[in-house]
Amino acid sequence: MSKDPIERQGLKPRFWEKKPLNKLTQKEWEALCDGCGKCCLNKLEDEGSGHVALTRVACRLLDDSDCRCAQYDIRHQFIPECIVLTPDNLDTHAYWMPKTCAYRLLWEKKPLYDWHPLISGTPESVHDAGVSVKDMTVSEFEIPIEEWEDYIIEEPS
Ligand code: SF4
Ligand code: SF4
Repeated sequence: MSKDPIERQGLKPRFWEKKPLNKLTQKEWEALCDGCGKCCLNKLEDEGSGHVALTRVACRLLDDSDCRCAQYDIRHQFIPECIVLTPDNLDTHAYWMPKTCAYRLLWEKKPLYDWHPLISGTPESVHDAGVSVKDMTVSEFEIPIEEWEDYIIEEPS
């Protein structure tokens, strides 16, 4: 079994069902991320309709071999605009988050999927379920923004 890059040891079983999001500890909050990598894909938003299209053009820091940010702890040195999601700003961001994102699901009062690593016990289950961006992205370094439209995809779900 591969090592989980997100620290999930020692957490109470199904803690997310027992506490509101704004009462979670920082470790619990971070552990909710399933590691799908979909929030690190560039999106195209139609200003008129508000529709958000997902592309497979990824942030330059995403490593799609494991769907992790290559410089997570110091990412803002390179990508200042990378959003730090918190319980307080979830209302603002939930609309563009992936439909399977644990933060969005809980914000919508929906349960997590069985493939979530907190339930399955392994980070591989998110890839095995086909809901991550593993090995399917191109870097924003390689694709000019005018061509992103050609890379629009349906959300893997
Ligand atoms: S979309 Fe949500 S669950 Fe997936 S990597 Fe981003 S924050 Fe984590
Ligand atoms: S800086 Fe890291 S966490 Fe932020 S979008 Fe890019 S890859 Fe994702």
